Amino acid sequence: MILGGGTGGTMTANRLRRRFDANEAEIHVVDRDDRHVYQPGLLFVPFGLAHEDEIVRPRRRQLRDGIVFHENEVEEVWIERDELLLDDGTVLSYDLLVVASGVRLQPEETEGMTGPGWNERVFTFYDLPGAAALARTLERFGGGRLVVNIADMPIKCPVAPIEFAFLADWYLRERGIRARSEVVLATPLDGCFTKPVASEHLTYLLGNKEIELVTEFSAGEIDGVGGKLTSYDGRELDFDLLVTVPLHGGAAYIERSPGLGDALGFVPTDKHTLQTPAKPNVFALGDATDLPTSKAGSVTHFEAEVLAENVARYFADRELDTSYDGHANCFIETGFHKALLIDFNYDTEPLPGHYPTAVGLPLLRESRLNHLGKLACQWIYWHALLPGRDIPGVTPAMPTAGKKRVAAHAS
Ligand SMILES: Cc1cc2nc3c(=O)[nH]c(=O)nc-3n(C[C@H](O)[C@H](O)[C@H](O)COP(=O)(O)OP(=O)(O)OC[C@H]3O[C@@H](n4cnc5c(N)ncnc54)[C@H](O)[C@@H]3O)c2cc1C
Repeated sequence: MILGGGTGGTMTANRLRRRFDANEAEIHVVDRDDRHVYQPGLLFVPFGLAHEDEIVRPRRRQLRDGIVFHENEVEEVWIERDELLLDDGTVLSYDLLVVASGVRLQPEETEGMTGPGWNERVFTFYDLPGAAALARTLERFGGGRLVVNIADMPIKCPVAPIEFAFLADWYLRERGIRARSEVVLATPLDGCFTKPVASEHLTYLLGNKEIELVTEFSAGEIDGVGGKLTSYDGRELDFDLLVTVPLHGGAAYIERSPGLGDALGFVPTDKHTLQTPAKPNVFALGDATDLPTSKAGSVTHFEAEVLAENVARYFADRELDTSYDGHANCFIETGFHKALLIDFNYDTEPLPGHYPTAVGLPLLRESRLNHLGKLACQWIYWHALLPGRDIPGVTPAMPTAGKKRVAAHAS
């Protein structure tokens, strides 16, 4: 039983379907709707670089034959009796549960965020309606002060707000209105990114592009009419346009399900096996977990490989694979048809060099090749990753062959 038919749920279901015959396993996926959004594409929608129709496909069609799809909201899970409740009153029972329900955006949790000015002067590109509304407004934007703000951590794709600031700089220059605009990135972190070497590179690029960086700024209150963003410690930032990344929490049903999640609705998960301490027949992956790595599609993909293996081992009563190492990689769009690539895991921060081997894509360096790599991800996502195919040379374990060790500097 797989809860969530997004990135992780779909990959897991398809990997398991390839592994087990219909007479060996019944595979069910539950999701509240039939619209699978390629979320990295949300970054491009506000700038007219992708249209909403191009990044959405029916969920059902991404699932292999023989997978049962329930288009329902999950209301509650009772792990002690291996059952769950759907919004139409159906109770489903399972032998094994995979939690893949991602995160829930909570803009209403920040005072004033969804008040007057929401989707007029205050936007998020973290969901499809928000990204599309922002596209219409940016098209009419004649210059001014654009503030990009992360309300608080954790968020999915922690580099996406930085990418947004880079692309905003590029977009405003292309339109000839950069001189009468300011771009500000306000983050609750003490640098633009958590990891020192990558943070140093990205901070240099922000400065180069005249993007102001405001650190240790957690959004406390928003006045969407007056154009003022106030931090918890009373600092104020004026804006003409605010692009915000709202607070994230786990799916609401997790909070209602005894013993499943933590106070924020995330699922405590073993960082190497993806089994949960809640019960041996409950596994979790992707944004829904509490794991100390990025909430990213790449992470979810690497986890799905280990998780599918462990589901097979669980049913065969074999010892679980402990090999997931927190491997993550992200292309970071920097504008002007260039991107940077970072690759890291629980223990190794993003380092320079090449990925996946010494002759691969350049790491921590802007290049056109990386931009093309980022664009190619969408095709790879629909045609290889979601169907559960292995990609030669791309493995759950972080490769070290092409990486250069460097002394870390304080950020
Ligand atoms: C703007 C943006 C840019 C990004 N860029 C990148 C990138 O460049 N690279 C990268 O690797 N990652 C990127 N990501 C992150 C990536 O998209 C996510 O990390 C990934 O999709 C996580 O997969 P998941 O399966 O955990 O969650 P999701 O794919 O979000 O799936 C969760 C599913 O659960 C369903 N669900 C939730 N609650 C319920 C319920 N109660 N009942 C029924 N169904 C429910 C939802 O409908 C959803 O379909 C980006 C994300 C955003 C927002």
